[in-house]
Amino acid sequence: DLYNKVIELKGNIRVFCRCRPLNADEVAVGASTAIDFESAKDGELIVRGHVSSKKVFKFDSVFGPEEDQEKVFERTAPFATSVLDGFNVCIFAYGQTGTGKTYTMEGIEGARGVNYRTLEELFKIHDLLLVGSQPGATTKRLEVRQIAEGVHHVPGLVEAQVSNMNEAWEVLQTGSKARAVGSTNANEHSSRSHCIHCVMVKGQNLLNGECTNSKLWLIDLAGSERVAKTDAQGERLKEAQNINKSLSALGDVISALATKTQHIPFRNSKLTHLLQDSLSGDSKTLMFVQISPNENDVGETLCSLNFASRVR
Ligand code: ADP
Ligand code: MG
Repeated sequence: DLYNKVIELKGNIRVFCRCRPLNADEVAVGASTAIDFESAKDGELIVRGHVSSKKVFKFDSVFGPEEDQEKVFERTAPFATSVLDGFNVCIFAYGQTGTGKTYTMEGIEGARGVNYRTLEELFKIHDLLLVGSQPGATTKRLEVRQIAEGVHHVPGLVEAQVSNMNEAWEVLQTGSKARAVGSTNANEHSSRSHCIHCVMVKGQNLLNGECTNSKLWLIDLAGSERVAKTDAQGERLKEAQNINKSLSALGDVISALATKTQHIPFRNSKLTHLLQDSLSGDSKTLMFVQISPNENDVGETLCSLNFASRVR
């Protein structure tokens, strides 16, 4: 269809921006919104800063606070399901803690996100999938090892074979829950970890018997906010520096891929190592940059939007 043709023409890296609504606490204190969608053109948004007057950003899609999960998935589906055509697909949610990364990927009861909707879509068309997850990942130190040129593997990773939607969702939830139990405050913990799901899809062309093996990565990244040195010390500071390093390494890789640079710096982090074979070659990448509408968050919002503009 037309949308698929547009995707084909525009290359393999996409950036969608999504802005959450002001929450009840913000509304209660009369917080103002710094993001303007009304006067922006299609695919654009305007940030009203404190110092600089206005800044316009353009993305492949922009979702304002009133756009729901269904609307977002409508745009995401052609991407996610191209794993059935043999493409490796990486979908990331990037942004400051509290901007809706988990809401977009995992969703909440009654408002399922990209992960659930994608599995559902795949099971409508397919009847067998392999889902790789890592229950208890938060308690173990994982290593990323190279098993072939450009192909990496995590020893000890649990793979579960699933045959229906419920089984698949169960496996994904096990991984997400393991992430949350590391702390009494789920958001505090998830701001310091990446949640990585990998769905391995084997396809077979029934006419010629040809097989495809492709991977769909669904990634809820650690919070991108800068951690002040005074707020973190020792292990906590080292952790924050590692997160920053892996996020900037990811930005460097995607931006190098977008500009078709010769040298792609995969070696700079475990995350980019792990994703190397899925980001290079015949692959599709979708980055959700999640932002807050709150005027008080404008500094972080501009950082996230600049990061996302660089990878586009
Ligand atoms: P993050 O994972 O980036 O830290 P969350 O996904 O936990 O952020 O979102 C923070 C809060 O805002 C949650 O309560 C979530 O349900 C809510 N939220 C985020 N995005 C939206 C949205 N688009 N619509 C409604 N609520 C949202
Ligand atoms: Mg989260």
